[in-house]
Amino acid sequence: MTTNAPASTDFVREIVAQDLRTGKHGGRVATRFPPEPNGYLHIGHAKSICLNFGIAQENGGVCHLRFDDTNPAREEVEYVESIQEDVRWLGFDWGAHLYYASDYFEQLCQYAVQLIQDGKAYVCSLSPQEIREYRGTLTEPGRDSPHRTRTVAENLGLFQRMRAGEFPEGAHVLRAKIDMASPNLNLRDPVLYRILHAQHHRTGGVWCIYPTYDYAHPISDAIEGITHSICTLEFEAHRPLYDWLLEQLPVPSHPQQIEFARLNVSYTLMSKRKLLQLVEQKHVSGWDDPRMPTISGLRRRGYSPEALRDFCERIGVAKRDNVVEFALLEHCLREDLNRRAARVMAVLHPLRVIIDNYPEHQVEQVDSVNNPEDSSMGSHTIPFSRVLYIDREDFQEDPPKGFFRLSPGREVRLKDAFYVTCVGVVKDEQTGAPMELHCTYDPETRGGRSADGRVVRGTLHWVSAAHSLPAEVRLYDHLFLSADPGADDGGAGFTQGLNPSSLEVLTQCRVEPSLAGAAPQNCYQFLRLGYFCVDPDTAGERLVFNRAVSLRDTWARVQKEQQGQPSKGQSGRAGRV
Ligand code: ATP
Ligand code: MG
Repeated sequence: MTTNAPASTDFVREIVAQDLRTGKHGGRVATRFPPEPNGYLHIGHAKSICLNFGIAQENGGVCHLRFDDTNPAREEVEYVESIQEDVRWLGFDWGAHLYYASDYFEQLCQYAVQLIQDGKAYVCSLSPQEIREYRGTLTEPGRDSPHRTRTVAENLGLFQRMRAGEFPEGAHVLRAKIDMASPNLNLRDPVLYRILHAQHHRTGGVWCIYPTYDYAHPISDAIEGITHSICTLEFEAHRPLYDWLLEQLPVPSHPQQIEFARLNVSYTLMSKRKLLQLVEQKHVSGWDDPRMPTISGLRRRGYSPEALRDFCERIGVAKRDNVVEFALLEHCLREDLNRRAARVMAVLHPLRVIIDNYPEHQVEQVDSVNNPEDSSMGSHTIPFSRVLYIDREDFQEDPPKGFFRLSPGREVRLKDAFYVTCVGVVKDEQTGAPMELHCTYDPETRGGRSADGRVVRGTLHWVSAAHSLPAEVRLYDHLFLSADPGADDGGAGFTQGLNPSSLEVLTQCRVEPSLAGAAPQNCYQFLRLGYFCVDPDTAGERLVFNRAVSLRDTWARVQKEQQGQPSKGQSGRAGRV
């Protein structure tokens, strides 16, 4: 057995450890991750994946990937493929254990016949509306369906004809015969099978009756010999049905269902139905839009598998629902990129600077450290010349108090290059906006260090105008304005809460020449600006970057606020220093 102990434990891991001690499942650990292929995976699924695959890994067990493909109307092969890609990318491996609930359709149907034969299931011909009415409420018991007393023979005949396709959708369902007065609504004769005349992405037109999730799930778990069936809290009230079914049927094993709290993250939604709506209504560019909470969106944004796994570990596994701050997700990304991203220079809003006393055709290479956190990453050179760009925000003609960057008469350091002093401003005649700056440089400050110990307060990033490359840079903000976009919207629809400025595209950016040919998914720190990841739209000469995250970490502030302490500093928007 491998002992791959987790950094921390939780109540699910404690149950598993306890079962291993008592030999409850013969010392085996088998978990599963059971997505419905009706959308792309999101960060909530990542939590479930890390938990299920993690527990298997730590205990020398197995984790199955099982597609819960029982609703052909909403499921697609595209989703099946993206889910596999995302689980693998996160760093997990199901080995030979890839399954589909549809693999068990025949067995599930035979078990249904057995329930009928045992008098534990019946064909009900009430309309869906009537079934709801008969079900009762939390305070009132339900009423027996008039078809509850059908004979076994009658039920077998009707179920057989349902399967043969003799009836339209909604004409009949198969229901478990449990207890219409149960305080648990899930036990009030739940539906096991419904008629759906739909093409299934794997079984084609073979079936026109499909099992419900509540019926298919426990049996699929049992067939696969799952030991711990870990699911989210909303299934807690379904557990008695899960157990009831496994007790009635001669299944090969009886897994234990354990519920944990689902992940919610502020400023995001986790419902696949709503995420699909964002995609279909083109509020985002696709499932992998870098603003989406999907694994593919986060990947495009610049998240590494390590950062997402780190996040899942930090949030832990609890029994109570809560909301995790988006700032924690960003904190994990920042820590990860701080370790591995090379530092480079890019100018997002270029302002031309002419170094008057620098020889016209001279070019020199200055040295720049790739990562001050990791000397093994080495350094690279950047060309310096007479005409440069700096960021517009780094110059002010009338600097307010506390502004230490460039202004007329002021000397600053150009990172890794020289000290420069602003000696002139060329302004737009109409608007008065600075169009071009004139500076002089001090040749004795090569490398950004002065020989005489003279101190400057500001250090600016820059690029050489002639050598830098054009780039498009996409800046992202929260997709939703409200921290709780899932809250009641008074019927307006959740898309009303979309942030109209969640995407800002800058097309005039310039980046240092070492970024030529940068490959998609590579991440860099643009000095003083944040972490940026090469977007897959990059092709040929066209460089496109996504801002993964700004430099300013807001997580410490959020933590303080949560602990009721006032915090200094400003809100966590775009990080400028
Ligand atoms: P959604 O509500 O987004 O459609 P779902 O539960 O219907 O999610 P499934 O494909 O059925 O999506 O989920 C597969 C597994 O992932 C389930 O075991 C489910 O409990 C788990 N899961 C889904 N959402 C979350 C979440 N936000 N946090 C933790 N686990 C989740
Ligand atoms: Mg589900």
